[in-house]
Amino acid sequence: MNYLKFWGTRGSCSVSGDQYETMGGNTCCLEINYDSHRLIIDAGTGIRPLGHVWLAEGEKHFNLFLSHTHWDHLIGFPFFEPLYQSGTIIDIWSPISAGRSCHDLFDDLLAQEFFPVRLNQIQAEIHFHTIHPRTPIQVGPITLDFHATHHPGTTYCFKIITPNQTIGYVTDNEMLYGYHGPIDQIPPTILEPYQSLIDFLAPCDILIHEAQYTPEEYRLKVGWGHSSIPNAAALLLHTKCPRWIITHHEPQHSDETIADMATQAEEFLRTFESKCKVSIAHDGLELKL
Ligand SMILES: [Zn+2]
Ligand SMILES: [Zn+2]
Repeated sequence: MNYLKFWGTRGSCSVSGDQYETMGGNTCCLEINYDSHRLIIDAGTGIRPLGHVWLAEGEKHFNLFLSHTHWDHLIGFPFFEPLYQSGTIIDIWSPISAGRSCHDLFDDLLAQEFFPVRLNQIQAEIHFHTIHPRTPIQVGPITLDFHATHHPGTTYCFKIITPNQTIGYVTDNEMLYGYHGPIDQIPPTILEPYQSLIDFLAPCDILIHEAQYTPEEYRLKVGWGHSSIPNAAALLLHTKCPRWIITHHEPQHSDETIADMATQAEEFLRTFESKCKVSIAHDGLELKL
């Protein structure tokens, strides 16, 4: 079966408790499986259960792509079981952040002050690669393309092209920096920096994109690298993608709050006569590709 599976849908910090039971608490990790070609995007805490399941299924080769190297997208890596199995190969594809190589960042992540196993003590064979915007990479029948997002540090989003569908995956992106006004009156100077991203994502059948803040929260968090509901909805209006799946949920938001925000997002789009279907990603959600 060809599918996409969310192993972690929380942004910023993992959470646990009754109020998070439906959406789950693992940070970002996505699996794509097409004709038995599998790849992973991001190594948040969701990669821990993924690694356990894939190993049990006999997987020996892992392709891991990173959007960026903030903790919520990396913190599960030391707990990725395939690292400790000889005979496994792990290809890690990452942007270069602040001029430091991916290898050096992982070496720091596994410094002895932080973790008992050093990078050079890991049993798996690891190969590091750099990804670049608008330079696609092919994994079997899956093409992955990359575009910079508006987020502190070098951060990319993904366009996942399969023979059947095109999917945008954008976990961390601050749409319309500092804008709190109505989305049908966005000044051209505010919109213009986003035009390239809009064009990149416009062909997507499904756009997975964050909407981490309510409009009230966004007033206090301009520059934190995340979107308010209306500003994220503006991206859906401009790309005209028919389906939006909201992910990278704010740790403070309960299941109930996230469900309310998705309803608001859909109502918001309806006022602009958009037919875009809005749903919410949760840990364990699978989509047929
Ligand atoms: Zn994040
Ligand atoms: Zn980030």
